[in-house]
Amino acid sequence: MIEISRLSKRYGGKVAVDDVTFTVRPGRVTGFLGPNGAGKSTTLRVLLGLDHPSGGAALIDGRRYRELRHPLRTVGALLDGAGPVPERRAVDHLTWIAQSNRIPRRRVREVLDLVGLGDAAGRRVKKYSLGMGRRLGIAAALLGDPEILVLDEPVNGLDPDGIRWVRAYLREYAASGRTVLLSSHLMAEVAGTADDAVVIARGRIVARGPLDDITAGH
Ligand code: ADP
Ligand code: ADP
Repeated sequence: MIEISRLSKRYGGKVAVDDVTFTVRPGRVTGFLGPNGAGKSTTLRVLLGLDHPSGGAALIDGRRYRELRHPLRTVGALLDGAGPVPERRAVDHLTWIAQSNRIPRRRVREVLDLVGLGDAAGRRVKKYSLGMGRRLGIAAALLGDPEILVLDEPVNGLDPDGIRWVRAYLREYAASGRTVLLSSHLMAEVAGTADDAVVIARGRIVARGPLDDITAGH
């Protein structure tokens, strides 16, 4: 379970996230929606231990990210800018992550096949298209077979096939009782995928609840 409580984040005098509270329940896909600059990535970065809050807390199963015993087995994440070294082969990138996190090596092949990169596993990441890079990011997030998936704009720039695949995969993931938090700046991108939505604007939560109720109110 993800619990964000009274979270604030300032960069100098600029308030990026302002007193944000919400929880994300298992067994559902929750969309985290808001225009560019609304505070989505900042919230997710704090949640994943990449930044510390100015106030409040962002907890996963009751702990801060850095306090998790098995971080990658608890939460898999796809964030902007956390990409692999371009010179590296995709399979080596994933093997390195697996080894540093005591994840069995066979899992690398499994996740590559799962995201449809089985045949491109030996290629250098710099030769990958945007869509392939996104699939590789998702493969990395899935390595630890986590209970929780956090994806920042996962379909941004993806080809239609890729988008269909991500949507179907996330539905299946949540249907198995796991937790999916999916950010997007476009309502249309999460419609049909998310069950619930949390809407943020200018650092503040402006709506939350079942997605159908939220779209009906617009
Ligand atoms: P979103 O992910 O919804 O597009 P962000 O969380 O990236 O929004 O940004 C929220 C606000 O915080 C924006 O005004 C952005 O310019 C600002 N911001 C984000 N990161 C930094 C940073 N490292 N330094 C200064 N301002 C930042
Ligand atoms: P650093 O990376 O600078 O060592 P820490 O992770 O130790 O930062 O966090 C710095 C401060 O922010 C600490 O007071 C810590 O309690 C708080 N903090 C960091 N992450 C979270 C979080 N997700 N929820 C609540 N407090 C947090």
